[in-house]
Amino acid sequence: MWSAFFFYLCQKKNHMELPFAEPYKIKMVENIYRSTRAEREKWLKAAKYNLFNLRSEQVYIDLLTDSGTGAMSDKQWSEMMIGDESYAGATSYFKMKHAIERITGFPYFLPAHQGRAAENVLFSAMVKAGDIVPGNSHFDTTKGHIEYRKARAIDCTIAEAYDTTVSHPFKGNVDLEKLETVLKTFPREHVPMIILTITCNTSGGQPVSMQNIKDVKKLADKYGIPLVFDSARFAENAYFIKVRENGYADKTIKEIVREMFSFADAMTMSSKKDAIVNMGGFSAMRSKELFQNASVFNIMFEGYITYGGMSGRDMNALAQGLDEATEFEYLDARVKQVEYLGKKCIDYGIPVQQPIGGHAVFVDARRFVPQLPKEEFIAQTVALELYLEGGIRSVEIGAILADRDPITRENRYPELELVRLAIPRRTYTNNHMDYVATALKNIFDTRHEAKHGFRITYEAPIMRHFTVELEKIK
Ligand SMILES: *Cc1c(COP(=O)(O)O)cnc(C)c1O
Repeated sequence: MWSAFFFYLCQKKNHMELPFAEPYKIKMVENIYRSTRAEREKWLKAAKYNLFNLRSEQVYIDLLTDSGTGAMSDKQWSEMMIGDESYAGATSYFKMKHAIERITGFPYFLPAHQGRAAENVLFSAMVKAGDIVPGNSHFDTTKGHIEYRKARAIDCTIAEAYDTTVSHPFKGNVDLEKLETVLKTFPREHVPMIILTITCNTSGGQPVSMQNIKDVKKLADKYGIPLVFDSARFAENAYFIKVRENGYADKTIKEIVREMFSFADAMTMSSKKDAIVNMGGFSAMRSKELFQNASVFNIMFEGYITYGGMSGRDMNALAQGLDEATEFEYLDARVKQVEYLGKKCIDYGIPVQQPIGGHAVFVDARRFVPQLPKEEFIAQTVALELYLEGGIRSVEIGAILADRDPITRENRYPELELVRLAIPRRTYTNNHMDYVATALKNIFDTRHEAKHGFRITYEAPIMRHFTVELEKIK
C-alpha cells in the first residue's frame, strides 16, 4: 500500500527533491551579543584597528578563522571523558596513532600542540640556513618557520590562482614547470623538501588535484627530494577531488585521503582544522630515521613523543575528529555552507575568489575598492569596515600578512588583497550567513565613499599581522 503510494508520489510532476540539510542537530548553544555601531567604533579604535586585538565578546559573528573554532560532536566530548593522562604510552596516544595510521597510512607520528609546532619539529630536523623550499602558496607559519631558519620559500602555484575572475577547479595546483625550474636551479642538498599545501589556505582555500599531487611526486622523485604535505584541510581537499576530478566520484573520502597521502613522505597537521578539535596537531612520516631525528626536537619543544604538548583527552577527541571529518555527509554540509555564503555574495555583485574555497569566502578587496593605493592596506580597510557595519570579524590576507622581504625589509605587496571570511565547522547557521552577506552588500554599495586606508604605527619584526597597530589616514 505504502509503496504504491510512494510510487504515485514519484510520478507526480511537482514531487520535489528533498533539499540539502545538515547531517547533525544542535545539543548545546552559546549566546552571542549584537553590539551597536557606536560601541564597535569605540572598540575598534581601542584595538588599534587590528581585529586580532578585539575581545571575542565584541564580535557578533566571528569569521576570523576556522582554526580551533569548530563545534565538537557528542562523541568527541565523550572521548574527552575517557582520556588517559599517563605521561608515557597512554591509551589516548595509541588511539591517535591508530586513527592516523588508518586514515593517512603513515606508520610514524609525533603529537604537537598545533600545526606550527609540528612544522617547528619537522623543519628542525629537515631545513637549514640557505635552503630553498618550493611549494604552493606556503601558509604564513610555514613560511615563518622556513624564513626563521634563514631558508627561502618559493611559491610555484599556477598563475590562475592569482586571478579571482578565472574559475579553475584546482587553483591550489603547482605549476610543474615553475617547480622544475627551481629544482634545476638549486642543488639537491639545498632543497630539503617540497611542500604541498592541501588545501591552499593563502590562495583562497583552493584544492590540489590528485593528478597534480602525482605529478609533483614524480618530479620530487626525479630529483630525489622528499614531498611533505601541509595537511590542515586534507579532508576538504579530498572532497573537492571527489566532486571535481574525473574518476573519483564513486570513491569514499577515506579512500581518496589514503590515495593522496600515499604520495607524501611526511606531513604536518593542524588538527584545529580538519580534525575538528580546539587544539592539537602532529607531524607524521614514513621514514624511521626522520622520525628518530624529529623525536629529539619533539621532546625539546613539545613534550615526550607519546603526548607532545597534548593532553590525553585532546588526543582522544582528535582521533574521533579525524574519522568524522573524513565522512562525505559532514564535508558536504561544510563545503555547501561556505558555498551558500559565496553564492549570496556573487548575487550581490561582490567580487569574490572563484570557485568558492572549502573553508572560507575570499573577497577580492582590490576589485572592491580599486580607488585605494596598495600602500594603504586595501584588504584591511575592507575588513575593518565590515566589522563596523555588522560586528563581523574577518581577516586580512594581503600586504600586512605578506610582511616585509626578509632581506631587503621592503613591504611585500602580494598579487591578491583578500578579506577572508572563514567559516568555523558546525558552528553557525545559514541565517548567520545571510546576515554576513547583507552586511557585505551594505559596505559594497557605499564603497565609493572610501577615500583612504590605514598606515602602520607599530609592527613586529616577523609575522607582524598578529600584533600590528594602525591608524586611519585622514
Ligand atoms: C593553520 C595552518 C597551519 C598552522 O597550524 P596552527 O595549528 O595554526 O599552528 C599551517 N598550515 C596551514 C595550511 C594552516 O591552515
